[in-house]
Amino acid sequence: MGSKPRVGVFVCHCGENIAGSVDVAKLAEEAVGLEDVVFATDYEYMCSDPGQNKIVEAVDEEGLNGVVVAACSPSMHEETFRNVVEDSGLNRYRCEIANIREQCSWVHRNGGTSPTSKALKIIKGAVQKVKRNIPLEPVEMDHSDKCLVIGGGVSGIQAALDVAEAGNEVILVEKEPTIGGHMAQLSETFPTLDCSQCILTPKMVQVSRHPDIELMTYSEVREVSGFVGNYRVTIEKKPTYVDPDACNLCGDCEDVCPVEVSDEFDEGLSTRKAIHIPFSQAVPSSYTLDEDACLGLNPLCCTECSDACDADAVNYDESSQFVEEEVGAIVVATGYDLYPKEEMGEYGAGSYQDVVDGLEFERMLSATGPTGGEVRRPSDGEVPNNVVFIQCSGSRDPENHNPYCSKICCMYTAKHAKLYKESVPDGNAYVFYIDIRAGGKEYEEFIQEVQEEERVLYLKGKVSKLEEVDGSLRVTGVDQTIGEKVEIDADLVVLAQSIIPSDRAEEVSKQLNLNLGPNGFYKEAHPKLRPVESIGGGVFFAGAGQAPKDIPDSVSQGSGAAAKAMDLLAKPTLSQDPQVVEIDEERCSGCGLCLGQCPYGALELNSRGIAEVNEILCEGCGTCVSGCPSNSLSLKNQTDEQVNEVIKAYVGD
Ligand code: FAD
Ligand code: SF4
Ligand code: SF4
Repeated sequence: MGSKPRVGVFVCHCGENIAGSVDVAKLAEEAVGLEDVVFATDYEYMCSDPGQNKIVEAVDEEGLNGVVVAACSPSMHEETFRNVVEDSGLNRYRCEIANIREQCSWVHRNGGTSPTSKALKIIKGAVQKVKRNIPLEPVEMDHSDKCLVIGGGVSGIQAALDVAEAGNEVILVEKEPTIGGHMAQLSETFPTLDCSQCILTPKMVQVSRHPDIELMTYSEVREVSGFVGNYRVTIEKKPTYVDPDACNLCGDCEDVCPVEVSDEFDEGLSTRKAIHIPFSQAVPSSYTLDEDACLGLNPLCCTECSDACDADAVNYDESSQFVEEEVGAIVVATGYDLYPKEEMGEYGAGSYQDVVDGLEFERMLSATGPTGGEVRRPSDGEVPNNVVFIQCSGSRDPENHNPYCSKICCMYTAKHAKLYKESVPDGNAYVFYIDIRAGGKEYEEFIQEVQEEERVLYLKGKVSKLEEVDGSLRVTGVDQTIGEKVEIDADLVVLAQSIIPSDRAEEVSKQLNLNLGPNGFYKEAHPKLRPVESIGGGVFFAGAGQAPKDIPDSVSQGSGAAAKAMDLLAKPTLSQDPQVVEIDEERCSGCGLCLGQCPYGALELNSRGIAEVNEILCEGCGTCVSGCPSNSLSLKNQTDEQVNEVIKAYVGD
């Protein structure tokens, strides 16, 4: 610290969070007795404006050269207090956080270890550390101005358009042959019941025409390296075997193709050819030859489509192309899947043809769907007179399925029941539910309308059994309101299957070093304060991949993620935390062991055979420090001496 240490300690009450079990006044009193502590005080909320002012004033009046804030976890407010310390004229690394909330008051509020004496030890450790901290300046670096958006559902589309409208180049990568995601499959959308395609199609077209958006459909990110501001990504563009510029969309190839496979856009309720366009409003509007469905390309087994194509657009020799791009920010918008019906043993495990999930029902309701918008049983094409809708199918069931609420099913089930009643006015619609959760704008009114005006019978209770009896589906449940068992013979059952993360979420999380929550959705840096950011920074979340979401929330988060990405890209340079590894050249033997240990590839041997660190790449994780046999590596402001002194403060000499 150069001059004699003069450390100030600032104890936060955090309302009752800390003060409820820690004697904060006594703590401040005892902290002044610690070696090199010249000032200590306590305050209700240190992060508040008056709380921050106390630090600035004390640094000035007491001539402090080190600050310890005894408060919540550093992940919460370390940046806040470092900024305050910088404002008071000190180097921002002259600040340490003593975590006396998560690591003390919260865990000891029921007695046992004395929270006050433990808090004093934590403060003592932080004092030992801060007085040995050296002043550091952030490392500045250039960055790419491009943004990568992964996933072309409505949230990714919104993010891409917002970033591009702000003047930044965007690469939008979508794994399917078209953008649109699940919204493109929907019929009408709650609560306003506007036609899904009508509101989505213009946005899809806008993406394809935007001069600053490079649209890469039928593509997937294969590799990512680098760091915030400077990611290098390798994208695989899978072959469509059709030249979109030559293809005039005549459809002759599709007419002659002999292969019929299940159509995934119609959720298997219709078939398509091996060479196909996913749906008429697809963007890009272009044919794709599905090589898995095709009779065979290698060796070539059938050339019907190419023979029929007068425009010479079919090319069986196409292969994957790998494109390398440098991007500064990444928006992850990989969306959701539905929990498979096959998992629902209690509802027939997908074996009954007339038990469909929500997306299958959407396709039935859609005017462009397999039944032209008429509700018809998949088994025999008959119009069903009794339809049972089962909510929370696979949700809110920690013992057997998923513990969480899928958030949108109450609303889309009400929509389904309403649209069914409009289509079959004499039909009977029954909805089994646990609770109705309609917490969006005009959502409750929508549910009320469906219950009252459409004469849909809502039964509060769970369905315990679903079986086929004499050609119909017997639904056995309970109506809790009257406390009685209910049996309904249904012609069609619609399961509101749980929303689960896209099957690609795990792979994407590995590529980008993202954390996943307990249910496999992307984990944000902070659920309230940084809801669209990843912990590592530079990667932002949009849409249902982060948690189940409806369209308004997905679009809002798409814009939120875009704003965060633009904020990053707008900076002339980015600053990197300077608390990185440093190398004692005298000690380094040049064995090179650390090179293989660094997960970020930040170390190399220089021309003198000595390890050298790239300060931009180094994340300060410390892996190499513990692995170096000659003890020649140390982390700035996390030296062995500092760690030892902190341990001594906790356990004594
Ligand atoms: P998605 O629509 O899932 O899009 C994600 C996209 O990312 C997909 O195109 C996918 O192919 C792509 N992708 C995934 N992984 C990768 C990868 N690794 N690389 C490249 N691309 C990838 N909401 C409403 O507001 N109103 C309604 O009426 C309504 N009805 C619904 C009815 C049902 C039955 C269901 C299940 C949902 C309904 N929703 C409704 C919710 C709506 O579908 C979602 O809010 C919306 O689709 C979320 O958009 P998204 O972009 O986050 O995800
Ligand atoms: Fe269909 Fe493949 Fe034959 Fe083309 S080559 S017509 S895609 S089966
Ligand atoms: Fe790599 Fe971590 Fe060592 Fe930095 S501290 S060089 S990131 S291993």
